[in-house]
Amino acid sequence: DYVFEYFDKYADREAVELAMNKINRRTNDIMAKSSTKNFRRFSMVDAASGRCYTYAQIRGLARKFASALTRRGLQKGDTVAVYSPNIPEYPIVFFGIIIAGGTITTCNPLYTPKELSHQLHLAEAKHIFTVNLFAEKAKEAAFLSKISNIYVLGSPTGDGITSFQELLADDGSYLKEVKFDVREDVAVLPFSSGVMLTHYNIVSNLSQATVKGFFYVNEDDVMLALLPWFHIYGMVTILFAGLRSGTKIVSMARFEPKIFLETIQNYKITVAPIVPPIAVFLSKHPLVNSFDISSLKDVISAAAPLGKDTQYALTARLGVNVRQGYGMTELSPVVSISILGNSMAGSAGVLVPHTKAKTVDIETGKALPCGKSGELCFKGPQVMKGYLKNKAATDRTIDTDGWLHTGDIGYFDKEGDFFIVDRLKELIKYKGFQVPPAELEELLLTHPKIADVAVIGIPDIDAGELPKAFVVKRANDVTEEEVIAFVASEVSPHKKLRGGVEFIESIPKSASGKILRRQLKAQEIEKYKKV
Ligand code: AMP
Repeated sequence: DYVFEYFDKYADREAVELAMNKINRRTNDIMAKSSTKNFRRFSMVDAASGRCYTYAQIRGLARKFASALTRRGLQKGDTVAVYSPNIPEYPIVFFGIIIAGGTITTCNPLYTPKELSHQLHLAEAKHIFTVNLFAEKAKEAAFLSKISNIYVLGSPTGDGITSFQELLADDGSYLKEVKFDVREDVAVLPFSSGVMLTHYNIVSNLSQATVKGFFYVNEDDVMLALLPWFHIYGMVTILFAGLRSGTKIVSMARFEPKIFLETIQNYKITVAPIVPPIAVFLSKHPLVNSFDISSLKDVISAAAPLGKDTQYALTARLGVNVRQGYGMTELSPVVSISILGNSMAGSAGVLVPHTKAKTVDIETGKALPCGKSGELCFKGPQVMKGYLKNKAATDRTIDTDGWLHTGDIGYFDKEGDFFIVDRLKELIKYKGFQVPPAELEELLLTHPKIADVAVIGIPDIDAGELPKAFVVKRANDVTEEEVIAFVASEVSPHKKLRGGVEFIESIPKSASGKILRRQLKAQEIEKYKKV
């Protein structure tokens, strides 16, 4: 309801006079044909095709979608997987599932059928929504996970698949009001670890992050939706905060430099939530000079560290105070954002309201004074309910006093600015995407020529980190190319071994057999410093 407030406010005014599907029109085409007046009324437009929806349409169609799901057996608490790139129909599906009382598990559209099936299985998904392009992969994964409700945007490709358009033709008669226990019922289940975020978590974080000065956007803004919506950062800043504030949202399914810049120029984007590699592109790439991107007034980077130099360079190039936010999926995700117009380079921002923070000594667990680096811990209504079916991991992450231990090392200064200095946890971040090293190690151990392995992230200016494997050979003839190709054939693109493969005699391990990834990482960082 909180999210739909805006939809209700504007539903009548907008009616349905805009043609719903302007399929296959290029950005320039739609910009040329639609008057500024009409453009102002879009809530969601796809940069590549020009397909667009008003707030009234999204609300109306989400209700039809909810009714169609209920008609097909969805019950409160059932999980629906959304395996799709950013398309303007995403919010119809997303809010439709919530209206019907379901839980959404968002999937990376580049997942292989095996990766997808793992998620579907763990989340016990009963329905899956996808687009034509990914329908075959979705079908394969759905078959492995025994899901028979498959919905596709586009023409259905075979038996057992229902077209999205057919669902939207629903008469709405199965729509019913669902009562939620907001602190218990899970609204979204983002992966890769199966983080349970309740309605309370999401709505709280939305309220905390959208306070003026933080991520405050309004009806005059035009927001760029390049961040993928399957990831919590894009989901909350754009799908929730953007739509709730009445902004116009321009969706992009993937990054392509020219179209990206053209989109900012043509749609006069004002707010752009981005990740550090995009900040690097905007600050350095010569192509940027060929476009007028002066409409940008708020550029905010999160999901991975933004280099101070990049922040300075981008601020100078755009003439706007580029700022940073920090969070993690387990925190719904926002805990800190730099204040608009007052961000300090290198800072990950100040705490959003109703959030407590402390840094603790990683050996003793004792709280540290201001200015001293330790593990960052947070407490607030945005702390997740837990990891799905993994109480041990939940208990390791949220202590008995309710503090969430981030696995990040950082400190805060006297003004309350946070600085992230390192990552204690072993998670690798490639361009802001999570790459769990243990997953790649498990896969590599299935290779007949590999005896042992450790995977770490090595520093990279453009991507943040690149996954690299240290391999102990079982067969002497195994080559680096062979190992890289093996991984590439089994996982989605962001998990490829772009950092290469190094063959070593043995993997450093603790007495209890735990891989000492930090030791390998320290060696790599030393090498990196020398280059
Ligand atoms: P995710 O759950 O994918 O959002 O990943 C969360 C992790 O991304 C955090 O625990 C940090 O390690 C990293 N991260 C997010 N924002 C920042 C930031 N502004 N600076 C440094 N690291 C960040």
